Amino acid sequence: MTPINNAPRRMMRQLHEIMASEDDAEVRLNKVVHLVASNMVAEVCSAYFIRGDMLELFATEGLKSEAVHNTRLRVGEGLVGLVASTRSSLNLSNAQDHPKFVYRPETGEEIYKSMMAVPILRSGKSVGVLVVQNQASRHYSEEEEEALQTVAMVLAELVVSGDLITSHDQNDGNGDRSSTTRFKGMVFAEGLAEGVVVMHEPRVEITQHLSEDYEGQLKRLDKGFENLLAQIDEIMSAEDILHHGEHREILDVYKLFARDKGWRQKIEDAIESGLTAEAAVEKIQVENRTKMMKTEDPYLRERLSDLDDLANRLIRHLMGKAGTAASKGLPENAVVVARNMGPAELLDYDRDKLKAVILQEGTPTSHVAIVARALGIPMLGQIEENLLDIDEGVQIIVHGLDGEIFISPPPDILESYRDAIGARAKLLARYDDMRDMPTVTKDGVEIELVVNGGLTMDIEGMHRTGARGVGLFRTEFQFMISKTLPRIGPQAEFYKSIIDAANGKPVTFRTLDIGGDKEVSFLKRDDEENPALGWRAIRIALDRPALLRYQLRALITAAAGTTLNVMFPMITNVDEFRLAKSILEKELARHRLNKRAMPKEINVGTMLEVPSLVWQLDSLLPLVDFVSIGSNDLMQFFYACDRDNPKLSNRYDPLSPPSLHMLKYIVKKCNEAKVPLTLCGEIGGKSVSALALIAIGFRRLSIAPAAIGPVKMMIRSLNLAEIEQYINELLSRSTSSIRPDLEAYARDHDVKI
Ligand code: PEP
Ligand code: MG
Repeated sequence: MTPINNAPRRMMRQLHEIMASEDDAEVRLNKVVHLVASNMVAEVCSAYFIRGDMLELFATEGLKSEAVHNTRLRVGEGLVGLVASTRSSLNLSNAQDHPKFVYRPETGEEIYKSMMAVPILRSGKSVGVLVVQNQASRHYSEEEEEALQTVAMVLAELVVSGDLITSHDQNDGNGDRSSTTRFKGMVFAEGLAEGVVVMHEPRVEITQHLSEDYEGQLKRLDKGFENLLAQIDEIMSAEDILHHGEHREILDVYKLFARDKGWRQKIEDAIESGLTAEAAVEKIQVENRTKMMKTEDPYLRERLSDLDDLANRLIRHLMGKAGTAASKGLPENAVVVARNMGPAELLDYDRDKLKAVILQEGTPTSHVAIVARALGIPMLGQIEENLLDIDEGVQIIVHGLDGEIFISPPPDILESYRDAIGARAKLLARYDDMRDMPTVTKDGVEIELVVNGGLTMDIEGMHRTGARGVGLFRTEFQFMISKTLPRIGPQAEFYKSIIDAANGKPVTFRTLDIGGDKEVSFLKRDDEENPALGWRAIRIALDRPALLRYQLRALITAAAGTTLNVMFPMITNVDEFRLAKSILEKELARHRLNKRAMPKEINVGTMLEVPSLVWQLDSLLPLVDFVSIGSNDLMQFFYACDRDNPKLSNRYDPLSPPSLHMLKYIVKKCNEAKVPLTLCGEIGGKSVSALALIAIGFRRLSIAPAAIGPVKMMIRSLNLAEIEQYINELLSRSTSSIRPDLEAYARDHDVKI
């Protein structure tokens, strides 16, 4: 008999005829297993499908007929179960040697040595397994494996149509979804949510696998690739270029793959064998997945998983369903799951319906995370296991406080989370109630709380929480969402809109802090070995003064008739501050000369985020109107510890004697010089570290709007004189963290942290 690799088209034609016939599904299935067995010189061909939670033998050529509908295996059990659970093929010359082999006497399969099994997939999930077996020990060729995969894909149509198994009985081979699954991730934006899973990039179901129109399918493939490349280009250069870091790298890899001739050729070959373009892409995707399962190399695995993702995108383009879930409209209580996304994509969602976002990857300092925090949408990222496979529509709980996710939670967990959601809502309501209450300690010391921002919505946050102003406005966000250097006019308008929205409350603008991880498209920079220590912030501004001059001009214009508070980032020595300030003065003089409306008052300050500046305070303080500590950077440089590296996240605690001694010294110096001091890094926003900061003398903290409520509650429950004494004792210890002592203190003294 002729092996299939010599006559694939003939078999495809026969397959096409069988599938298109009027016969009922079981009859068609029987004909297909017969066709495969005869074409592949196999003594056995069997088809298993998942019904309920079990894989069930539905049709066989060669095994005992009484086994049909009687032989059942759990997903993961035996070799057939293994193929279903891993969604990758097996090709074994002696199946009985495999540790997973299980023997089912009713089938009479003990005489068959060699075996090849491929998954039957529907939307990327296992719905069954197709198997061939031979008595002789033989290795099936690559072509035979490919042919079997093609048949398996076509058989998936029987499941899609619901003809073979009712939809009620359908399940997938990727775990029992009726049982709860728990995942761990990292909290990017705090909050609790309950809802249903929506995939950011929805999976689509292939309904048509076979086609005789080879040319037509090739044209569709061309168009699909064209659209795919255009989409990637658009994401990379769109207005929302806040995609950066890892996300951009992934997109670069996608582009490489999308142009990869080898990948494309394989798809074209699959089309030639009689598949539609989308089925051909899926077929190569399955082969790729098999490779992915086998490779140990983590880098290669990651690239293969990129290719998997890209294949999904290409299939969506081919089926005319390329948009994200935002364009489809969300169900109520949607929890969107994505591999990654940009901030503009997040902003596309209907905020009333979007309850939480889960990113398979992402980093907490990425801009999408910053936007999620600003919007108050809980966000988890860096999920330990692959979540991109879960079913849409299943119930999900997102615990965006301790980083837990529950899929299909049982009633008791659901109830306890609903209690937690209720308790949190009450807590948030209590924060709202405190909005107009003074931020004073129990012993009457006033602490000023202001917010960090960079988006218009942060100003809403300031009003909502009753914060006294904006202590840090990160102007770079505006630059990062623009393809070209924003012109002075629109810049000035934007700053004015912020000043107006603040409605009389002070706003401190920080000049451009780009570089490091913050990329802007209009300024090309060399790759740097250590970008955080590189050409960034004021260093760029002083080397490219036009950028700074235009920004200052826009700020001066925006603040006409009111107070302009402006500060410079990453100042490392006094000369840099002098230079930056002299540029501001020149711009002011120019403005005056042109008889333009001037700000009523101008305060010029500096960020203190480089340790060297701490040792220049004597010469710096007489020059500045205020100082603002950027503790994120200050701590990263103080501890030589990358703030964006998740592996180092909790390695060194800023709540330890060395860093607190340094901060205390800054407080002392600023107090002596009567220079107002603010701290505007993340540590100010955590109640326990805010407690330490206040105890060592800070009286003004600039924190995220969402942190205002909890920090204010802590302050109002604190007796400052007592903790001042205690912290001095803690600072004399040689310990790497005083956090546990502060937490214990708070517990014992009823301080609400
Ligand atoms: C800081 O470094 O603490 C800071 C507030 O600035 P950014 O987080 O924008 O670098
Ligand atoms: Mg900084």
